[in-house]
Amino acid sequence: MNNDAPKPESAEVKNFIYQEIDKDLAEGKNGGKILTRFPPEPNGYLHIGHAKSICLNFGIAKHYNAACNLRFDDTNPSKEETEYVQSIQEDIKWLGFNWKDEPKYASDYFDQLYEWAVKLIKKGKAYVCELTAEEIAAQKGTPTTPGQDSPYRNRSVEENLDLFERMRKGEFKDGEKILRAKIDMAASNMQMRDPIMYRIMHKPHHRTGTKWCIYPMYDFTHGQSDFIEGITHSICTLEFEVHRPLYNWFLDQILEDEPDVKVRPRQIEFARLNLNYTVMSKRKLLELVQKGIVSGWDDPRMPTVSGLRRRGYTPESIRMFADRVGIARRDNVIDLALLEYCVREDLNKRAKRVNAVLDPVKLVITNYPEDQEEMLETINNPEDESMGSRTIPFSRELYIERNDFMEEPPKKFFRLGPGREVRLKSAYIIKCESFKKDAEGNITEIVCTYDPETRSGMPQSDRKVKGTLHWVSAKHAIDAEVRLYDRLFMDEEPDGHKGVDFKEFLNPDSLKTLTDCKLEPSLAGVKPLDSFQFQRIGYFSVDKDSTAEKIVFNKTVGLKDNWNKKGKNK
Ligand code: ATP
Ligand code: MG
Repeated sequence: MNNDAPKPESAEVKNFIYQEIDKDLAEGKNGGKILTRFPPEPNGYLHIGHAKSICLNFGIAKHYNAACNLRFDDTNPSKEETEYVQSIQEDIKWLGFNWKDEPKYASDYFDQLYEWAVKLIKKGKAYVCELTAEEIAAQKGTPTTPGQDSPYRNRSVEENLDLFERMRKGEFKDGEKILRAKIDMAASNMQMRDPIMYRIMHKPHHRTGTKWCIYPMYDFTHGQSDFIEGITHSICTLEFEVHRPLYNWFLDQILEDEPDVKVRPRQIEFARLNLNYTVMSKRKLLELVQKGIVSGWDDPRMPTVSGLRRRGYTPESIRMFADRVGIARRDNVIDLALLEYCVREDLNKRAKRVNAVLDPVKLVITNYPEDQEEMLETINNPEDESMGSRTIPFSRELYIERNDFMEEPPKKFFRLGPGREVRLKSAYIIKCESFKKDAEGNITEIVCTYDPETRSGMPQSDRKVKGTLHWVSAKHAIDAEVRLYDRLFMDEEPDGHKGVDFKEFLNPDSLKTLTDCKLEPSLAGVKPLDSFQFQRIGYFSVDKDSTAEKIVFNKTVGLKDNWNKKGKNK
């Protein structure tokens, strides 16, 4: 052993899949060629779990200086739409990846798959069956007891060929007949008990139109599509491990009499991403959209790539998350807090820090001349000097956060209260002299004086006080709407309770809209997806609903993780 061998670039890059690929390369498999693919079914928008798979497949391609295909596994015309085909491409590009050539479609291979099905029939390895779905289920057996042979299992090749041809021509209704592989009804792997290869569906397909009324099952499509494209490493989630022998069986049958076959895909499984407080099944996400529980697939509370983008997540933060989560062989659940940590890390370095008051109360500085105003310099991001500085206006009337003032503050409250002093960030030290209330007892105005000597560059600029507050000048402030989000679900595993619908665990307070927020004037002209740190509050991103007349921000994430401490986001 050579102990001086260079360490892998990073632990997450060298996960076990990379190690397997390295082995294949060392053995000279596939002539040293690597080709991966990402194979979404276009029946919904991509979610953070898909993002993990994308980062893995495209990441491998990048690492080995190879390519990754995008292939839509579009075998089920009843659930698929071109809207999804579009959104999936947009999301992958936004994540920072590019596929090889044009996107590919399993439906491009329907002719070839049909030929191969005929080939299997001719070899006596497939038959047309007339059992109903219920009958098939009843005859399937259990993992410990064998299934029963279908009464149609021993049809002649000629009869099977004729019936399959007539299935294709549309002579039968949906469900009347299916094509099944003839393998072994007693196989210990249930996937091998004469699985369905083709079903009848009189439905137009988003790409092949009405050409077909029979469609191949995913299991009869996926492995062969990988083969057709010359995929070397077919990486998928663990639930497909038990399908692997079937995919190999199909390829064995198809390639039996073809001596010089080049590349056969090698399937490697990894654990899918599970996030707590989240549902990730596309069926359930679709239900949230269709029932209007969220505003759409890109609702900022959704775990979709488009939802995270709208919420203010950056591609960098999602790629960092995929790296941190790593690739495991066993199922596990990742804490949502890790995803938030990643975006916080990224934006901390990149987002400009600005002043925004979300719940404003007026503050008047009585010794500041009424007609005076001045521009104060403030740095854009102390983490990165190259981001420079800007000026913000100061005047006699300001807004501060309502909760930065207390009429009778306790000892540990270092913000404003009668007789107390605080620093206004990048400005002066002020002292609270009094305050005004309305008939209901709400504070309507905080009356202060300021110390002109405490501004940056003045003799008292270093004078220490315990609290520093953010603020905006009232006359210069711009109005904004700010949407605050909490977890969409209150339970760690909303779809993990037998007999209880996941929607029972929806958080009724997952969206709170603040309509009277005040922003510093430098934020005029912001565009959707621009991200900022609102000082002392968190990271915020401009929503797509935002216009020049009405600025709308989404809260991406708070400055700190408040959930783990208090069990609830503050
Ligand atoms: P869903 O169950 O939400 O419908 P799916 O697995 O059916 O998801 P596909 O469109 O078939 O969705 O997935 C495309 C690729 O993304 C597949 O290779 C699949 O293994 C992978 N993938 C899907 N969900 C996850 C996840 N949670 N973690 C990692 N990879 C995932
Ligand atoms: Mg799938």
